[in-house]
Amino acid sequence: MTARAGAAVEPQAPGLTAAGGGDRATAAAGLRVVGRAAVRRRVALPRQSLPGTRPAELVTFDGLVDGREHVALVWRPDTARPLVRIHSECLTGDVFGSARCDCGPQLSETLGLMERRGGVLLYLRQEGRGIGLYNKIDAYALQEAGADTVDANVRLGFPADGRSYEVAGQMLDALGHRDVALVTNNAEKVKGLRACGIEVSEQVPTGVFVRPENVDYLETKRIRMGHAITVDRPTSSIAPSA
Ligand SMILES: [Zn+2]
Repeated sequence: MTARAGAAVEPQAPGLTAAGGGDRATAAAGLRVVGRAAVRRRVALPRQSLPGTRPAELVTFDGLVDGREHVALVWRPDTARPLVRIHSECLTGDVFGSARCDCGPQLSETLGLMERRGGVLLYLRQEGRGIGLYNKIDAYALQEAGADTVDANVRLGFPADGRSYEVAGQMLDALGHRDVALVTNNAEKVKGLRACGIEVSEQVPTGVFVRPENVDYLETKRIRMGHAITVDRPTSSIAPSA
């Protein structure tokens, strides 16, 4: 894993521009113009947590560019530059504990981190790297026949990664956070936020949760998708659990 210090920062990071707003500074910086979103509702979200940890709020939005119901979980940050994690929905990993991927452990890590240090979890409803649940399951079937996660998506007629981070930019803008410490190993997320005018001044690595069942998947993420991770292949002495 590689922690990367923040790259050079423009003196004044432009925020998101309202559609058609004609913000010259933004256009000059080559930033994509997306409509602004607004906070729709904030409610307390009591969680079963350790004593002394921060309470969470669940936030919904109006005006998200893809029209989906993405949510943010917010724990009061200590600093003006909050920790932010973008997590894409993974029903099988987040809810059912699937070991095919590392989404479940990464989500748990994020929840613990944010409770201790504050921050914002953007939970994006883009299952299967944007291809949807049923298509993801179809891709799993192809993987059982030998394809890796990238080739399986492509064979189904989808991009290797169909996710967009415009809504993440909109959500952060609506929450008033335009300078963040992004928790990720994925350079595409950093690029995606910067393209929306959100400054990523710091990149914080996430854990790598290797299991015999997901090691090939993680290797594919490292080699073919550019994730800055080290994958220590479990030794052959680890037998598949019964
Ligand atoms: Zn997953």
